[in-house]
Amino acid sequence: MLWLLLISVLLILGVFVLPRARLRYVLAQAFPLNYSKILRKNLPGYTRMPTDLQMQLKRRIRQFLYQKTFVGCGGLRISDEIRVTIAGKACMLLLNRETEVYPQLTHILVYPSPFVAPRTQMLDGGIVTHTNQGLSGESWSDGRVLLAWDQIAHHPDNDAHGHDVVMHEFAHQLDSETGSVNGAPALSGAAAYQAWSQVMQREYAHLQAALQHGIHTVIDPYGATNPAEFFAVSTEAFFRKSTALADHHPELYAQLKGFYRVDPREWM
Ligand SMILES: [Zn+2]
Repeated sequence: MLWLLLISVLLILGVFVLPRARLRYVLAQAFPLNYSKILRKNLPGYTRMPTDLQMQLKRRIRQFLYQKTFVGCGGLRISDEIRVTIAGKACMLLLNRETEVYPQLTHILVYPSPFVAPRTQMLDGGIVTHTNQGLSGESWSDGRVLLAWDQIAHHPDNDAHGHDVVMHEFAHQLDSETGSVNGAPALSGAAAYQAWSQVMQREYAHLQAALQHGIHTVIDPYGATNPAEFFAVSTEAFFRKSTALADHHPELYAQLKGFYRVDPREWM
């Protein structure tokens, strides 16, 4: 009986108390100077963000780096620059929100450049095709995100077009926290879901129609693939092309502003 009690106490200590105490200790440490330098270099808009948001971001980054494991793939060696840049962009999506830091995510696999992922597709008549696709990033619901490093830090094409593969994949992570990846992340209640789905459906249909007529769009055409990609691509535009998105899609911008609880026009 005494042994059982002792084992229970040790279990509670090991699973609940000690990790939380350790996290509190980690968060209380000063933010390393070289991390701040990396944020200034690789995080667009960081230097213009209000100080309180910078502080929040740094705290989230510390937690992210403490809780997640980075794995270098294809010969890539994980550096502070890789860890802090990815954590910084991922945590930009969590500002002003009462939330854990991507609780389902455990591993970030980083490749030096776009990686090949085998794909199996079931076609009509039971035919299965296998293809190899070059990918810049991928979000899995089993706790993994895959990223190509050369697509992340100041990639000239991506900067020019407002693409951000890290924000894209971590928007999918937020989306998956509800249990299904469908373009509707966790919102505050039934009314919020109704407003979200009305605006998203309308904007999604507009994007598809614009592409059919060859009209240039602020939102990347890849968003017309399905509602989940629409949310991920809209998230990139919200943070990286804020003014253009707000000007051309005010209702969509308002929904994203409500969800992300920041207005990136103030600093991007
Ligand atoms: Zn995607």
